[in-house]
Order: sequence, then C-alpha cells, then structure tokens
Amino acid sequence: MPVLAINGGKKVREKLFPAHNPIGEEEKKAVEKVLDKGKLSRFLGCWHEDFFGGDEVRALEKEWAEKFGVKHAISVNSATSALYCAVGAAGIGPGDEVIVSPYTMTASASAALVYNAIPVFADIEEEYYCLDPDSIEEKITERTKAIIVVDIMGQPYDADRINAIAKKHNLIVIEDAAQAPGAMYKERYAGTLGDIGIYSLNYHKHIHSGEGGIIVTNDDELAERLMLIRNHAEAVVEDKGVTNLVNMIGFNYRMTEIEAAIAREQLKKLDDLLQVRLKNVEYLSREFAKVPCIEVSKIREESKHAFYIQALKFNKEIAGISREKFIEAVNAELAPFEMRETEGVKFGCGYVRPLYLQPIYQKLIAYGDKGCPFKCPHYKGQVNYNKGICPVCEDMHYEKVITHEYMVPSMKKEDMDDIVAAFMKVWNNIGEIRE
Ligand SMILES: *Cc1c(COP(=O)(O)O)cnc(C)c1O
Repeated sequence: MPVLAINGGKKVREKLFPAHNPIGEEEKKAVEKVLDKGKLSRFLGCWHEDFFGGDEVRALEKEWAEKFGVKHAISVNSATSALYCAVGAAGIGPGDEVIVSPYTMTASASAALVYNAIPVFADIEEEYYCLDPDSIEEKITERTKAIIVVDIMGQPYDADRINAIAKKHNLIVIEDAAQAPGAMYKERYAGTLGDIGIYSLNYHKHIHSGEGGIIVTNDDELAERLMLIRNHAEAVVEDKGVTNLVNMIGFNYRMTEIEAAIAREQLKKLDDLLQVRLKNVEYLSREFAKVPCIEVSKIREESKHAFYIQALKFNKEIAGISREKFIEAVNAELAPFEMRETEGVKFGCGYVRPLYLQPIYQKLIAYGDKGCPFKCPHYKGQVNYNKGICPVCEDMHYEKVITHEYMVPSMKKEDMDDIVAAFMKVWNNIGEIRE
C-alpha cells in the first residue's frame, strides 16, 4: 500500500490554506469616503496646483515619506511604472548600460529597455540571491550608468559594498524594494538605501491597493523629474521652467484617490503584518531544519528580511532524488491557497527563470523588428545573453532553490504544521519515489 499521495496515498491536507487578505473595514470606509466626495482623481496634466494630484494621493505620499524616513515619496499606478520613472529620471538613454539582476521580476530589467538602454546581467549571491558585488564590478564598462539592485524575496541588497562601487564609478543606484517594504539594512529601510527606491502595492505584495507603486528619493531634482514623467512631462516642462529635457516624455502613471485611500490604511497595517510573517518564518525554519535534505536560506548580517518569499535549498545528494521529484511529492500532499486555487500548491522549484533566457533577450527583439536597442548605432558594446553568463543564478534556479509563500500572515500554527508534516512524510517515505 503506497503512503505518499503522489502514489495514491492519503493527502496530509485537503482543505485550502487561508488566503492572505489584508483588506478590512478600514479600507472599505476609506473608499466610501472617496466615493461620497465623487472626486476619484484630481490630477491635471499641465503646470497647475493639481499637477501633484488629489488629497488622498498627497496624504499617502506624506505618510509614506515619514514612515520610511525619506524626503520625497511619489505615488504611481504600479511598481513597474515606478521603475520606468526611475530609469527615466536618472537620465538613462540609448547607448547606456544598466547592470541588473537576472533573478527578479521581469520589470526590474525591462525598465532599462524602455529607455533604449541595455540591461547587463550580473550574477547573484549564492546565499542571499541578491546582486553579487564582485560580479557587478566585472560587468562595469565606460557605458555603465546605473545599477538596478533588487531586495529579492524581501532580503536587502549588500548596500555598503554596492553603494561604494556605485560611488567609485559614478553610477546611480535604483533599488527595487517591491518585495521588501519594512525590511532593514543597518537600521535603514530597504527602498531608501540607494538613490531612488521603489515599492509595489499590487495585490500579491505585503500590503496592497489592487495595483499601485511608490517611488522614494532624498534628491529634489530627481523627485521633480519623477513627478514629471508620472504626469505628461512634455506638456508641463515649459510652464514649470524645467530646462533639462532629457527623458521628458511623460506618461500617465497617476494613482487614483481610491487606491491612495486604501494604501494609507494598508500602510498603517504594515508593521503588524510583517511581524506575523517573521514569526511564521521563524517557526517554519525551525521545523524545516529537521528535514535532512532541506537547508533554510540565510538572512544577511545586520539586516531584517521582509520574507515576501522564503527560499530553501535542496540537497540532491542527501535526498537521493531530484528536487523536482521531491517537490512534486510534497505538493501532492498539500492544497492551494484560498482565492488562488487555480495557481496550485505554491512550493516552486527555483524562483523565476534567469531573465536573459526570455525570448526578447535570446532573439534581440524589443523595439520594432530591427534589433533596437541591442543593435542601436549609439550602442558601442556587444550584448551577451548566452546561457551560462550567470552560473550561480542558473545553479540556484535549476538545481537548488525551492521557494514558497506559506508564511503569509493568514497562516496559523496548525496550517504550518501541515506544511511541515508534508515535508517530513515525503522524507520518511522517500524510498517510494527513488528511481
Ligand atoms: C511585484 C514586483 C514588481 C512590479 O510590481 P507591480 O506593482 O506589479 O508593477 C517589480 N519588482 C519586483 C521585484 C516585484 O516583485
């Protein structure tokens, strides 16, 4: 009689896991207030008092800046827009190179492409999965203008070393903290460690307003440029007296009053929600450590991790089977999350495929069909997106890393015990699935 669910045995858990849903009465009331007023947005795309948006948008920006201890916070309609604004405000353009991580959400790299710049992928750290300072140094050329660092999974990047490299080579640091609101590095908040930082308020993140993003900076000029790109810069520069026209093609990346009202309530909940996540991770980590073929990933020294995702490392030699087979067996024991049933059980092999292996990089087709910007005459370098350019990232993704989100604040001890039981059950009956 097989024991493991993958072989027809009884599952550890049939019932769906509780959904992460941080939206409550406070958000409902805040939205009602906006609806009652009827002013769902107040932005004007010209130089006018309302260039800066409505009451909720401005209040959110003020509160966000205070919370994270930064001079300017600028709301936008997504973190993707935030990244695009950041690259544009930094003055990046054709012929420039931007060093990016291959192990991140797709927009962290495409932000460079949007301004016709070239994403150059540096490798990641084996322990923390963030950009590796040594690899960054190897990739710097006279064309490099910026580094887009990512606090991946909620882990702050190596700010001391990478900021020093940036300073030495006069590069702008754009910090993608979409997965790390509330994470800290040496008593400073992730998102505020570089020159420009961005956060996400999309549905899947720690706190959300459906869609939304925030950009932060301490630099007045960058802040002005960010706001211009958010809101039809080309129609504003003249009356506002702006003379630097580089990348002053504006977009409509404006956040609505409804989203801002929700985000203000969400921001108040961030600390408590993060606290529960950290407690859940602590419990899960202690239990995962009892499974011999699993190693829990480390937290950087003097840092607070925000655990958007937890990474585990799989040891194939100890398990005697592949990571894929092991996770297939674990997932067969478990159930999906409520509200995300169609996504299946959320233990994944790796995180995202190294970005340079996406079709647009492999085929060098982004703008139009002539190879722009990769073959742009302004670009004097030579792109290399071959398999093997970031060996650590490929090893982590294709061989070792397991990722999951079963630390979301909705998870109770008994839910987490089912997770751990599934791992233990597969480990204890591993002979059933060894080839
Ligand atoms: C979610 C995410 C983004 C994009 O966020 P959106 O608000 O959905 O545009 C960017 N970078 C990282 C690392 C993310 O996780």
